[in-house]
Amino acid sequence: DNDKQTLGFQAEVKQLLQLMIHSLYSNKEIFLRELISNASDASDKLRFEAINNDALYGNDHELKIKVSFDKAARTITISDNGIGMSRDEAISHLGTIAKSGTKEFFGKLSGDQQQDAALIGQFGVGFYSGFIVADKITVETRRAGADAAEGVRWESAGEGDYSVEQIEKTGRGTDIILHLREGEDELLSSWKIKSIIRKYSDHISLPIVMAKEEWDEEKKETVVKDELETINQASALWARNKSDITPEQYEEFYKHVSHDFQAPLTHTHNRVEGRSEYTQLLYIPAKAPFDLWDRNKRGGIKLYVKRVFIMDDAEQLMPAYLRMVKGVIDSADLPLNVSREILQESRDVKVIRDGSTKRVIGMLEELANADEQEKKDKYVTFWKEFGQVLKEGIGEDATNKDRLAKLLRFASTANENDEQSVSLEQYVARQKEGQDKIYYVTADNYVAAKNSPHLEIFRKKGVEVLLLTDRVDEWMLSFLTEFEGKELVSVAKGGLDLGALEDEAEKKEHEETETSYKDLVGKMKEALSDKAKDVRVTFRLTDSPACLVADEHELSGNLLRMLKAAGQ
Ligand code: ADP
Ligand code: MG
Repeated sequence: DNDKQTLGFQAEVKQLLQLMIHSLYSNKEIFLRELISNASDASDKLRFEAINNDALYGNDHELKIKVSFDKAARTITISDNGIGMSRDEAISHLGTIAKSGTKEFFGKLSGDQQQDAALIGQFGVGFYSGFIVADKITVETRRAGADAAEGVRWESAGEGDYSVEQIEKTGRGTDIILHLREGEDELLSSWKIKSIIRKYSDHISLPIVMAKEEWDEEKKETVVKDELETINQASALWARNKSDITPEQYEEFYKHVSHDFQAPLTHTHNRVEGRSEYTQLLYIPAKAPFDLWDRNKRGGIKLYVKRVFIMDDAEQLMPAYLRMVKGVIDSADLPLNVSREILQESRDVKVIRDGSTKRVIGMLEELANADEQEKKDKYVTFWKEFGQVLKEGIGEDATNKDRLAKLLRFASTANENDEQSVSLEQYVARQKEGQDKIYYVTADNYVAAKNSPHLEIFRKKGVEVLLLTDRVDEWMLSFLTEFEGKELVSVAKGGLDLGALEDEAEKKEHEETETSYKDLVGKMKEALSDKAKDVRVTFRLTDSPACLVADEHELSGNLLRMLKAAGQ
């Protein structure tokens, strides 16, 4: 129906709007980046839908983004001829937040402006960032394939509600009209707008055009011409030569594909030729997203085929344990009409996925093994944010298990604090003379691990023990039973054999002690027959009188607790 309708924003939108306007004001120029990013996405979506329906283009095949301004009306308009929105789409896309992790995000807001600004940035501000500089936004849009009479006008002052009504709209796509707030007039300048576009949106592969301005000698003023000029380089960033791309362009492109607000930790950009031909531009974020733990969440890779956008979140292109990776893969081999189902089975996809996995691992190794402090610090950050996820790879990726094992970092009795910084290579390098195993203890937390009575004998002998306290550790360890020929052994399991760490005299003394306690042990076994499987004399303890151990072949106490907690 044509009727104008007024609707309320979802509660979260209201909250986000208020916070954003205040906390991102010092960064207000990003509104243009966000709106151009959306225009670019909309064009990508049209191109994709048109693969199977060329009629969607009508007589308008040249996709572009146009930015214009009107000094008298005090507006800036961002127009695209992309996919557009139907009335329902406008309501759901511009009136609600569908992002995963939204609830967690709002739960974390503290009311402290600076802290919240960083969070909001991480969450991604998108369309609503227009309200940083505008006190009213009008969106006029028409879905590709819909009639001119089926245009939609969406309008809001960014407070509690918005209106939608049906309008006539000549062309396909979306115009975002920002009615500037008082005091934002400096944005009404072509010089200013161009410099913002060049700074934040140069990487956009479509042309971003503006009306040309020229100095008129007779009128003695600059006049706006009918002619358009392209402001950006307008070529896909990943297809350019590395040497032609500045660090800033890499960073802005990351923000575009990831919807992240912060700079990434690192990236890798390669063209792969051979059996399979593709380009990959992959990034590691500096911060874990709110929904990192959601294993059903799709990945962060955008798939292109010969520069044509095919799909977001192509989870088949990256294993689950590398779900933090964001970026673009552009294949020269896949068919344009590839679907998620085809991706699942494609051999080309498997080749790309294997190659990209190796690339990402290589990128992490470069940080982990670097001599420069800056890179080392980056690996520390990576491990803090994503280490637990990487551990999943030990169980999931048999091919790369050895390389992944070297990337692991642990807390250790050799350290004074709970920092996970010791690698297995480091552990092995400083093993004691005669030590042929890697010892670890698992517990719910660092304090419990550090104070485990099982550690007493190791402390006495000066043997390092790794302290494992992450939820995934027990599971991971069931796949990681040895490293470089050294068995990984829990100090809490079975008859602990310290091997060559025990000298002959000690062994003899132990045997004698065991014999002398034989009767007592027999009685205890009898008394505890329904509670304990066995009772043994131990030499592990130096201070505690007794401790419980798990059978060598049974689940450890910690894993049992975990399974119980999970209701198994
Ligand atoms: P995001 O881009 O992260 O999805 P935004 O807040 O930037 O979030 O945009 C919300 C949604 O609104 C988009 O996902 C898209 O569906 C829709 N949208 C925004 N701008 C446009 C546009 N120019 N053309 C078509 N759809 C758009
Ligand atoms: Mg967006």
